[in-house]
Amino acid sequence: MNDSDIMARKLAASRNAVFFTGAGISTESGIPDFRSPGGVWSRYQPVYYDEFLTSHDARLRYWAMKREFYDNMKHSAPNPAHMALSRFHSLGLLKGLITQNIDGLHQASGLPDSLVIELHGTNRSVDCITCGKRHTAEEITSRLSNGETVPRCSCGGWLKPATISFGQQMPQDKISRAGQLSRRSDVFIVIGSSLVVHPAAAMPEIAKSSGAWLAIVNRDPTPLDSIADLVVDESAGVFMSKVLATVETLSAQ
Ligand code: NAD
Repeated sequence: MNDSDIMARKLAASRNAVFFTGAGISTESGIPDFRSPGGVWSRYQPVYYDEFLTSHDARLRYWAMKREFYDNMKHSAPNPAHMALSRFHSLGLLKGLITQNIDGLHQASGLPDSLVIELHGTNRSVDCITCGKRHTAEEITSRLSNGETVPRCSCGGWLKPATISFGQQMPQDKISRAGQLSRRSDVFIVIGSSLVVHPAAAMPEIAKSSGAWLAIVNRDPTPLDSIADLVVDESAGVFMSKVLATVETLSAQ
């Protein structure tokens, strides 16, 4: 049996399949990841939350990077890997999705918001760090297009997308919900993550040590390959389309 058939059979027989995605699932939608060659970190230095609060230069760098991300997001749409996951959900074969992504493409593919745990927040909204007022990404991107470099709220506070920066506290409620989902899963599938960012990367380990069948679909090796039951180094879109085709055949039988 080939790898896509193995995964399709595991999924079709699962009761509690959970998916975990990272930036690599969205590269085929035109959004670069962080750590591949040409990825974001080869061109921008990460801005820590404290620097954002205290340094104008850091805010300028931060918003230059975000502006590029928003430009990519504007022209992006869910790709076959996102669409396969959405279809698994309609077939009752996806019980939860944990993502490190901030691009909103899982929801754009039709997955309900309530099923998606966005561990690192979302770029779809922009918050004032002083008064908390929420703005839409559309409003802020149009202000950036009109020449603003570091947008501010009407109260004077700095605006920042609702994402978790380096050095910023992770949302404990989401981490504990993701931990519970991982613990209860019987099939756990990672797609497009280098699995080096913690605590997100602990989820596959939690799933595996709780008895789940663990698969990792990632172009490059990850530190958890040695504990996985299946490791696939193909492109996410191509591989997940093959898995979906077999799942559709199995569910029609
Ligand atoms: P990462 O950049 O560390 O790793 C991405 C992995 O995906 C790489 O190991 C690469 O080999 C693999 N990959 C790239 N394209 C692939 C493809 N088409 N098919 C299969 N594998 C592919 O990303 P990460 O592990 O998600 O962690 C980094 C952080 O990146 C997260 O905190 C996330 O918030 C942030 N991020 C998100 C986006 C997004 O929302 N689309 C984009 C860039 C960064």
